[in-house]
Amino acid sequence: MSKDPIIAVNPATEEEVGRYDSIGREELIRKMEQTDICFREWSQRPMDERCQLMKNLADVLESRKEDYAQIITSEMGKVFQAGISEIEKCAWVCRYYAENGPRFLEDEKIQTDASTSYVSFQPLGVILAVMPWNFPFWQVFRFAAPALVAGNTGLLKHASNVPGCAQAIENSFLEAGFPNNAFCNLPISSSRVKEVLENPLVRAATLTGSEKAGSSVALESGKRIKKTVLELGGSDAYLILADADLELAVNQCVKSRLLNAGQSCIGAKRFIVVEEVYHAFMALFLEKMRAAKMGDPTDSDSDFGPLARMDLRDELHKQVERSVDAGANLDLGGRIPPGKGAWYPATVLSNVKPGMPAFDEELFGPVAAVIRAKNEKEAIDLANKSDFGLGAAVFTKDLNKGEDIARNKLQAGSCFVNGLVKSDPRLPFGGIKVSGYGRELSHYGIKEFVNIKTVWIR
Ligand code: NAP
Repeated sequence: MSKDPIIAVNPATEEEVGRYDSIGREELIRKMEQTDICFREWSQRPMDERCQLMKNLADVLESRKEDYAQIITSEMGKVFQAGISEIEKCAWVCRYYAENGPRFLEDEKIQTDASTSYVSFQPLGVILAVMPWNFPFWQVFRFAAPALVAGNTGLLKHASNVPGCAQAIENSFLEAGFPNNAFCNLPISSSRVKEVLENPLVRAATLTGSEKAGSSVALESGKRIKKTVLELGGSDAYLILADADLELAVNQCVKSRLLNAGQSCIGAKRFIVVEEVYHAFMALFLEKMRAAKMGDPTDSDSDFGPLARMDLRDELHKQVERSVDAGANLDLGGRIPPGKGAWYPATVLSNVKPGMPAFDEELFGPVAAVIRAKNEKEAIDLANKSDFGLGAAVFTKDLNKGEDIARNKLQAGSCFVNGLVKSDPRLPFGGIKVSGYGRELSHYGIKEFVNIKTVWIR
């Protein structure tokens, strides 16, 4: 089996910033065996000890946040300050599960014909996590914190463009005092994920990434009856109704679209604006998108940096071109700047309609698709006319109406009123339709990788 090195390239400069050995078949098998051996010991430790180590991990993350943010910036181009915030959020999720995990996993007594009967939550074993590069620490920790508090051990197959992040994450567990192989990095290519899923020691898998990768992992896992959680792409619709506070709406829309250079699964992607406020919204939206500063991600003045890889930038540009060919208007950006690096400017497409790539596909970059709707009903129909169902938001001063639309009418895993969709350890996170299944975070997340065991005693 191939042992090609995994090479990290700075997308701002196209310079190589790291080269890591991948592992061969024997080493891969050894790591799976060791992670399973570790599971037997780790799962038997008292919950308090597991939680204390998770608190130590939060301390390690906080004490090293600048080092970690620097690796993130150099490997995938995130603005340094946003990298710091990402690490702080990882520390938060570790503390959240250290403090709340024991309560979430308490036995649930149930009255039956037994003298005692209850539900107990037992860890499953070794869980494989296949993770993306866009939030290279956060995506990993939001899986790892609940899974390890519950008593599982983890194997990480990280995206190939963030090998330094993957190694740093494994090291952070060791530095916090976790036993060897409680959380183990597997430097392998995606073509070898199948080998991991085929191994009976690996009990379940979670994947955050594209639909294509998700269906491949689900297929391989399904063949062996292994549970999966899939956190896939999105094309979140933001509805701007006639009575919206436009200043608030535009600020939230621009922030959500440009966050992480537009490479967020829950970034606002389709802006559906009702006729009455269309021109006012567009004027303000274009002004603020134009004012956003693309620049060196190590510079604190930059609002967003380059995209994470050259191929992703080129793919995004093709989606813009295909949308324009299909009749969309290019109101801002849409041109690749000369010189090195995976740069792509803030771009606004209007007159976007179903059937165009900007409507039907996920735009993973700083490109906004603006859609005009005749009325509220049409705005809701257009929002739901998507294969994706990750997040959605509605802007209106009528909170009852906003709540009704969010709760009852929009088809997505998270629906927000007058605010941008964001993840929070206290709230469940995940999608419907091709955005995936299963939930991360909150008490739902910690129950994804446990055996919900019935105990019945006469
Ligand atoms: P990706 O290409 O699917 O990669 C994600 C991970 O899957 C990487 O580790 C990748 O490894 C691996 N992978 C790729 N193809 C695979 C296959 N056939 N079998 C097994 N593993 C495979 O996605 P990405 O471009 O890195 O990430 C962007 C996507 O992730 C977007 O669609 C975004 O919306 C989605 N996302 C979703 C969430 C969520 O919570 N719902 C959060 C963040 C991102 P290699 O790098 O080695 O190919």
